[in-house]
Amino acid sequence: MFLAQEIIRKKRDNQTLSDAEIAFFVQGISDGSISEGQIAAFAMTIFFNELSMSERIALTCAMRDSGRVLNWDAMNFGGPVVDKHSTGGVGDMTSLLLGPMVAACGGFVPMISGRGLGHTGGTLDKLEAIPGYNIMPSNDVFGQVTKTAGIAIIGQTGDLAPADKRLYATRDVTATVDNISLITASILSKKLAAGLGSLVMDVKVGSGAFMPTYADSKALAQSIVDVATGAGTPTTALLTDMNQVLASSAGNALEIAEVVAFLTGQSRNPRLQAVTFALAEEMLVNSGLASSLAEANAKLQHSLDSGLAAERFGKMVAGLGGPTDFMEKSEQYLDKAPIIRPVFAEQQGFVHSMDTRALGMAVVGLGGGRRVASDSIDFAVGLNQCITLGQQADSNTPLAMVHARTEAQWQQAAQAVRDAVVLADSAPEQLPEVYERIVPQAV
Ligand code: URA
Repeated sequence: MFLAQEIIRKKRDNQTLSDAEIAFFVQGISDGSISEGQIAAFAMTIFFNELSMSERIALTCAMRDSGRVLNWDAMNFGGPVVDKHSTGGVGDMTSLLLGPMVAACGGFVPMISGRGLGHTGGTLDKLEAIPGYNIMPSNDVFGQVTKTAGIAIIGQTGDLAPADKRLYATRDVTATVDNISLITASILSKKLAAGLGSLVMDVKVGSGAFMPTYADSKALAQSIVDVATGAGTPTTALLTDMNQVLASSAGNALEIAEVVAFLTGQSRNPRLQAVTFALAEEMLVNSGLASSLAEANAKLQHSLDSGLAAERFGKMVAGLGGPTDFMEKSEQYLDKAPIIRPVFAEQQGFVHSMDTRALGMAVVGLGGGRRVASDSIDFAVGLNQCITLGQQADSNTPLAMVHARTEAQWQQAAQAVRDAVVLADSAPEQLPEVYERIVPQAV
């Protein structure tokens, strides 16, 4: 059989690993027969010698198969299983909108989501702002809610892609997280273990994005699209803008309130709407629920106008332990911060740019995210009525409304917001919400 050190040597010398060698290494990561030092060396060789497409597919499939792979056939959903994944943003609640919208169009979305990471918000943390919502239901409940509501958003159980868990922990402490081959396999092993028929990937670009440059975001998007499609799950990606907070709010309960307002038609932030529709259109086309993006757009609009998407969200919440009248009485259920005051700019001017990462960190500083994994979250705090690029900040128009637990936290967040928003004498050129659509490359 193989030897771990020989596999590391081969990759160190920039040769191509076979599927069997990669499967052997991943098996060793899972069963503990390969040491942490060997995992670290393996990750570092890949950092310097990116994997070929066939190696990336082999690594993704081996990691996907290192644990339980969900199979929905026995559930007889009667429609395609489809999902979306994002590299993470600030004020980005697209999952909570497109899930019920796609469900109302006939898709089934068993979405396994994550918590906030660094400056980005996590869908699971937002859902936990809803009293009673259980992010870790039994498999039976997960399947049943997906079947009846068409959408169920839950947390990751330890038995999905366990090899990624060990590999990621080592990458995290050996400066090997920021590598496109490894990120691709890490993200996709977990997503593809959810038994999807098709996928759309939202790769963010800009000051709040995980990848540092447009070129890196594009390379990651292309890698994910090609590997997922090569692994048998048709996938497209969109490069979307994260040079400002996507929606009007950032913070857990505040974002849930914005979701309810969006689904029920009370208010719809146009940027959030554009990105949500663009991603949901990809989902309908990739899964065969629409034959063109235009047809998908019309169906999605109907899911909102008819109230069906709002109904699906309410069903998911009730099915997973939340209030049965959440959509009607969300205001009563969502926690509110004791201090809610606008923060104004020191001088008048047009918003020229924003350090979106810093705005995300301001929410973390208020207690709305975690600095370390063991931190608990204050659901009530955050920002809303966030100003947008090109808008004029003056004594009537604040930069944001800051929702804080204490006066000291309010002051600190207000200063962080002032520091993060750059004003100028004139408005900058408007940025698109969606930069580019990435489809599989012909190989
Ligand atoms: N998110 C993941 O799940 N894995 C990575 O490697 C990076 C981001």
